[in-house]
Amino acid sequence: MDELDRLRLLAELDESHCELNHGPGTKPEEYLASDYIVLPFGYQEDRVREVSARELVVPVCFECAQALLQDEWTLLYCFECGGSRWVNRKLARNAYRHHILWLRGCPDCTNVFGGLYFTDIPRVIGHVELLAQHVMVAA
Ligand SMILES: [Zn+2]
Ligand SMILES: [Zn+2]
Repeated sequence: MDELDRLRLLAELDESHCELNHGPGTKPEEYLASDYIVLPFGYQEDRVREVSARELVVPVCFECAQALLQDEWTLLYCFECGGSRWVNRKLARNAYRHHILWLRGCPDCTNVFGGLYFTDIPRVIGHVELLAQHVMVAA
């Protein structure tokens, strides 16, 4: 992402709403975005052609951005349908240590689980970025 894209996104923050799950009965309009999660990713066309990168940008509110920076919660985000849910690490049966797990398919959109995203592209393991705050989140 170049500087122009950044500036454009930041300028659009005022009109954006958090796209993460705030629980049943909540509306996205109630949560103004204060930041973006930026995840660089690409895909393999076939065995010969190289991976081309683009970026997934998800507007998030202040509350969600803070949760991503702390160790209490793990966000599960499906980039097939944009659905997400938060897992409280203390209450979870599995020991989560990542801040975000990107799923290719989730129970809401498919019966076929396509895998965890970050296992596909070694380059992106480790970090996503919170755009407005200029901080990297260990994913
Ligand atoms: Zn939020
Ligand atoms: Zn899904």
